[in-house]
Amino acid sequence: MDMNTIEAVVRTTDPADWRDGDAWLAGGTVLFSYGSTAFGPEPLRRLLDLGSAGWQPITVTADGIELAATCTVAELYALPEKLAGEGGTPDWAVNAPDWPGLDLIRPCCDSFVASFKVWNMSTVGGNLCTSLPAGPMISLCAGLDGAATILAPGGARRELRVADLITGDGQNVLAPGELLRSVSLPASSLSSRVAFRRLSLSNLGRSGVLLIGRLDGGGRFTLTVTAATKRPVQLRFSSLPDAPELADRLEAAIPAGLYHDDIHGLPAWRRDMTHRLAEEIRAELGLSAGAPTAVSGDFWPAQQSTQQTRQTPPQQTTRGA
Ligand SMILES: Cc1cc2nc3c(=O)[nH]c(=O)nc-3n(C[C@H](O)[C@H](O)[C@H](O)COP(=O)(O)OP(=O)(O)OC[C@H]3O[C@@H](n4cnc5c(N)ncnc54)[C@H](O)[C@@H]3O)c2cc1C
Repeated sequence: MDMNTIEAVVRTTDPADWRDGDAWLAGGTVLFSYGSTAFGPEPLRRLLDLGSAGWQPITVTADGIELAATCTVAELYALPEKLAGEGGTPDWAVNAPDWPGLDLIRPCCDSFVASFKVWNMSTVGGNLCTSLPAGPMISLCAGLDGAATILAPGGARRELRVADLITGDGQNVLAPGELLRSVSLPASSLSSRVAFRRLSLSNLGRSGVLLIGRLDGGGRFTLTVTAATKRPVQLRFSSLPDAPELADRLEAAIPAGLYHDDIHGLPAWRRDMTHRLAEEIRAELGLSAGAPTAVSGDFWPAQQSTQQTRQTPPQQTTRGA
């Protein structure tokens, strides 16, 4: 796609440089595929290139993991191996943490069904700021209660939960010129037991439903619904609910109009599958770690496939016909 309205590319990470007609440029996989007239009523005039930001992509401390907005999907995918010491000595001042939440990283990256070219360019920040319902970095960061740090043109800095950053399909709370700097994933979330479910209508297609469950050390349960809904929806329970309570809370939290509707799934199908996968997650986290459980979905992380029962992906009911 030509961006033939662009007059300048400015290398900067300073929000004070931002002016009308500018867009932050990260990996460019959205900007260069949508073109310069797709981002508002006026065409883009300048790209503010984050490519020379030089931000450490990933920082691991005892408090958790900080992902720079410019961290690529490929760099994130390599993290579990790096922490396990298989890819060389990690350069972080912390011993390899034994966090079950790390198990979410690879399935979330895999949910980004794209070529290595896209994986090597597209960034965590670009995925969050594009704010598509099927944004897998949104699923990961919201599911782990990530906090986004945002820098404003006036020099202000604010933090908010990733689940609150995204407000709809392609919509978020960023004001013009605001820059997403980083996302912090807290150790308290990373040390929780987690369960992951994803479903797509086609094999390795875009996510139609993606749910993450988290059971922390205090027995508190958090369910994060993404892809099925126009924005992330989170349910919090003081303990693992029973099946009817979970279904009731889902029904109350997600009105019909909040389910996403596009070529990747009808709202009714997304609703049914949200309930189904949520119940599977509830059942899985109610069992002892590693116990066999039913798994719906169109792909399964390698570490799960040997111990879990595969089922035929449920079919979507056809529209109208
Ligand atoms: C083959 C293919 C498959 C894809 N599959 C998926 C998919 O499954 N799910 C999905 O969600 N997307 C998908 N995408 C879209 C896209 O690749 C991703 O959303 C990607 O993560 C965007 O990141 P980027 O760094 O390339 O963003 P860019 O194209 O650089 O930027 C995207 C938008 O975010 C803004 N932005 C970027 N960084 C920041 C920042 N730090 N602060 C403020 N604003 C910022 C930009 O101004 C722009 O508006 C796919 C794209 C391709 C080409």
